[in-house]
Amino acid sequence: MSKTVVILGGSYAGLHIAHALLKNEKDLKVVLVSKNSHFYWNIASVRAIIPGIIKDEELFGSIEKALSRYPKDRYEFIVGGATASDFAAKTVTVTTKDGAEKQLSYDHLVLATGARCAGAESVPWKAAGTYEEAVELLHATQERVKAAGHFVVAGAGSTGVEAAAELGFEYGKDREVVLLCSDREVLGGDSIASNALAELKKLNVKVRTEARVESAARLPDGKTEIKLAGGGDPIVTDVYLPTFGLAPNSEFVDAKYLTDKKYASIDAEYRVKGAENVWAAGDIVSQPRAGFMITQKQAAGVAKNIGLVASGKQPTPVKLLPFDIYAVATGRSRGAGRAGSVKLLSFMVYMAKGKTLAVERMAGYIDGSVA
Ligand SMILES: Cc1cc2nc3c(=O)[nH]c(=O)nc-3n(C[C@H](O)[C@H](O)[C@H](O)COP(=O)(O)OP(=O)(O)OC[C@H]3O[C@@H](n4cnc5c(N)ncnc54)[C@H](O)[C@@H]3O)c2cc1C
Repeated sequence: MSKTVVILGGSYAGLHIAHALLKNEKDLKVVLVSKNSHFYWNIASVRAIIPGIIKDEELFGSIEKALSRYPKDRYEFIVGGATASDFAAKTVTVTTKDGAEKQLSYDHLVLATGARCAGAESVPWKAAGTYEEAVELLHATQERVKAAGHFVVAGAGSTGVEAAAELGFEYGKDREVVLLCSDREVLGGDSIASNALAELKKLNVKVRTEARVESAARLPDGKTEIKLAGGGDPIVTDVYLPTFGLAPNSEFVDAKYLTDKKYASIDAEYRVKGAENVWAAGDIVSQPRAGFMITQKQAAGVAKNIGLVASGKQPTPVKLLPFDIYAVATGRSRGAGRAGSVKLLSFMVYMAKGKTLAVERMAGYIDGSVA
């Protein structure tokens, strides 16, 4: 009898693993559970908040369509969320989109539920709910951006720098774009921080360093009042876009399988420590950091290891990229980046990333060629 692999999460990690298993492991049945019916190319969300630049169909791709290329008896796709798990009994409880509760038994379980923006403000950087909610939030953000004269992006990691740069590129000449950075330097002081800062200045983005948001409250007129730690005058803005505070989607997992920060605790083979045949990949792990190319490597490694274990062999350590590639798009013509410790020319980052924010690569997650 074929073994069942339940994959939780239908994004860069989960859908990749589903394709890899369905293509290469003919004796395994895949049950993919995802809160959203559509894959979301969230990497381009920093540009998609500006109306009229990227079409919805370039950002969202049907997961059902992605799986329909495989024989029907090889897979099941459930739109719903995992709410509880019992790793000893090898079961997961799932609440489907229409509110029904289902208990799924598995031979192998993959945690690929990623991370979400955990703050009170709704921002479209991740798809935390259904596909329909993600589209609605993106469109609502576009409407607010269109009408705004003043923007505050808070958090100067790569998402914050990219979002501020996109706003600066589009509106920097006649509207005000402020980037709040809690550290002394953007990008956590990475070696490309000064390059990114120079690019932001060219786009008229006002960068305030050592400016940590203490609170942000929506005012009756729809604007947001932001108070910074250490006092000073509050900032009132039309559109407030926090980019800090990602939290792992791991509430359905017993804390003993998680790190102190609630990420999946894994070994070198990406098995969840202390659990039998439970694997994890992507932002639920966030090691060495959250990133889609890192996620691709982890997904490939986990799929391979499930295949090995299912055929009675030993899993092997998951290999990541030989060196770190860090590329930050700064608007629709430039960027800052490095390969390992070697800095990349602004134009190279634009060509490799900023030109399209890689939206064309979503096709690989739908047609399966990613795996
Ligand atoms: C704005 C932004 C820009 C980025 N740009 C880049 C970039 O340029 N380069 C780069 O390398 N990385 C980038 N990243 C990081 C990249 O997006 C992540 O590494 C990637 O999304 C990780 O994919 P994942 O599948 O692990 O998780 P996620 O993309 O977080 O997806 C998790 C999936 O699981 C689902 N889910 C959640 N909870 C449950 C549950 N209980 N049950 C079932 N399903 C559930 C979610 O709905 C979602 O579909 C960016 C991130 C952000 C936020």
